[in-house]
Amino acid sequence: MRIDLHTHSRASDGTDTPAGLVKAAAAAGIDVLAITDHDTAAGWAEAAAAAEETGVELVRGMEISTRHEGRGVHLLAYLPDPTYPPLVEQLAAVLEGRRARVPMMLQRLRALGVEIDDEDVRLASVGTEATGRPHVADALVARGAVADRTEAFDRYLGAGRPAHVDRYAAPLLTTIRYVAEAGGVSVIAHPWGRSVHRHDEADLARLQEAGLAGIEVDHEDHDAAARAELRAIARNLGLVVTGSSDHHGLGKTGHDLGVNTTAPEEYARLLELAAAASAASGRTTPSVVRP
Ligand code: AMP
Ligand code: ZN
Ligand code: FE
Ligand code: FE
Repeated sequence: MRIDLHTHSRASDGTDTPAGLVKAAAAAGIDVLAITDHDTAAGWAEAAAAAEETGVELVRGMEISTRHEGRGVHLLAYLPDPTYPPLVEQLAAVLEGRRARVPMMLQRLRALGVEIDDEDVRLASVGTEATGRPHVADALVARGAVADRTEAFDRYLGAGRPAHVDRYAAPLLTTIRYVAEAGGVSVIAHPWGRSVHRHDEADLARLQEAGLAGIEVDHEDHDAAARAELRAIARNLGLVVTGSSDHHGLGKTGHDLGVNTTAPEEYARLLELAAAASAASGRTTPSVVRP
């Protein structure tokens, strides 16, 4: 069983369509795939239809941009009711923050002598409301200003680089609560990845009390030592351990589908917690698509 619980499509900053992502997963021998676009469920319907066709088991999720103690934290939310009003409102605020940031980044780039405009970014982000730095990077590539997304982040868009602009992110604890109230489960994505809050055990215990179900341990941003430490913390606390590719299609190298995977027994625990959350919430939650 190969289980990959964190991937992106063109509904955010991946380069595959949602259907293309599911087909690519089938071709890569993935048995269970989660689609987790940034801050949106917009890819769910298309991915679910493709899962029915291809025989991939599909978990509908999203990766929500949150903030905790001043630092960005990516929260994977699996199987929440995407119509739960507080969650809808929070995601709308994040998407609005993404929209508002684009002209500021373009202004910074212009000040650096790099001329790209709204239309370039619009063309690079067709099909998503979750416009992000990767789309600005793609616009820079299209204009010939850089060779690829990596160069765009290294020169202009990455943290501490001259065209970097911060944006609104949802409060982490509130978002964990909203996901639970929406009948879903939360997992912290790449908790010790680059430029994220380095949650220690006490911090993770507090988040667990707020409803956190698990942590993503096996991720390309974690080296062997980080994985071993995180696994030990998860064992102490009883948190679910997940692993994933964080695939972005051609948008990110080293993140091929299935490069990291989730153990079947951990996936089973996650689904049990999701079933319990769904029942407690009284909401209509998406089921896992089992062809
Ligand atoms: P944003 O959410 O708009 O701030 O952009 C963050 C996204 O950019 C993350 O999802 C990353 O996957 C992506 N990203 C960060 N660094 C790089 C990089 N060096 N190359 C390609 N994508 C990156
Ligand atoms: Zn991304
Ligand atoms: Fe992330
Ligand atoms: Fe991601």
